[in-house]
Amino acid sequence: MLSLSELKSLLATPQKIVITTHHKPDGDAMGSSLGLYAYLIQKGHHVKVITPTDYPYFLHWLPNNSDVIIYTEEKAQSEKLVEEAALIFCLDFNTLSRINELGEVIRSSQGYKVMIDHHLEPEDFDDFRHWNINACAAAQLVYDFIINVLEDPKALTKDIATCLYTGIMTDSGSFRFASATADVYRIGADLIDLGAEHWRIHQLVYDNATENRLRFLGHCISNKLEIIREYQTAIITVSAEELDHYDIVTGDTEGIVNYALSVNGIKLAAFIIERPDKVKLSLRSTGDFPANEICKKYFSGGGHRNAAGGYSEQSLEDTVSTFKSILAEYKTQLLQ
Ligand code: 5GP
Ligand code: MN
Repeated sequence: MLSLSELKSLLATPQKIVITTHHKPDGDAMGSSLGLYAYLIQKGHHVKVITPTDYPYFLHWLPNNSDVIIYTEEKAQSEKLVEEAALIFCLDFNTLSRINELGEVIRSSQGYKVMIDHHLEPEDFDDFRHWNINACAAAQLVYDFIINVLEDPKALTKDIATCLYTGIMTDSGSFRFASATADVYRIGADLIDLGAEHWRIHQLVYDNATENRLRFLGHCISNKLEIIREYQTAIITVSAEELDHYDIVTGDTEGIVNYALSVNGIKLAAFIIERPDKVKLSLRSTGDFPANEICKKYFSGGGHRNAAGGYSEQSLEDTVSTFKSILAEYKTQLLQ
């Protein structure tokens, strides 16, 4: 364990620090990580952000992105950095299985582990925890960590604000989910005051698609969307062949599940995609419907109530059948 005063005294002198985040990092994972990175660098620490895998091209513009190390591309260097780190910040995840092989490297490292996260049911691998499931984004918790835990509000810069705004914007559905409380809007306003260009950030993340991605989205909506009215559920299924045909790269499939959820009356939406190693499921729901429960119970995953994910070792067709067969169990909740 690491007390707050011990953490503060460690951070008072330059330390070797690693920041890591979950598999296939999204806007919140990268925004919170690079936001904390910009803060710690400014304080004179030796810091590296290590991601378990690659991440979408529409996040590559983030400040200090060129300093990020991708574990799968630089394993030896990453492992050395983790081994030598006095502090390891774990952002936007709370079980080591979410960071693949890097998880065991971190588990066996000597450095203190600091978890900053907003997911349910954290695993007990950390030494210090700044965790709140009511936060709309890990980036909101990094903001809170700098301002209220480290009591260092004056340290916030334009770069930090830009990264944290990106995390909050992406995880709150552009400030539209229930998690985007009045406090979140106030934080957003503060980040804009600090220099975050909200209009530019939105454009870089959401209006930055390749032609392929837009045509692929059209294909998913026109040809692949299946509406099961009996269960108020919508499914989009995509095969490896289709991904190949449209030259789909990391990030291109992000957000497509939300189109399925946007159909009136739909309570549960699933995007089921055939990846090289396994079939990945992305679930979204409205209201009280627990998408994370389905992912946890049937698809080795988890997440938030309204946004969850998991995977299956079955074929694409069998995964879709399994998913459909589960719906009967949830009929009452789906029809509420
Ligand atoms: P997405 O559908 O965008 O991949 O993931 C939505 C949310 O579900 C993520 O923020 C994360 O909380 C959760 N999630 C996605 N995949 C997994 C998984 O394989 N395991 C767990 N535990 N959570 C996941
Ligand atoms: Mn998040």
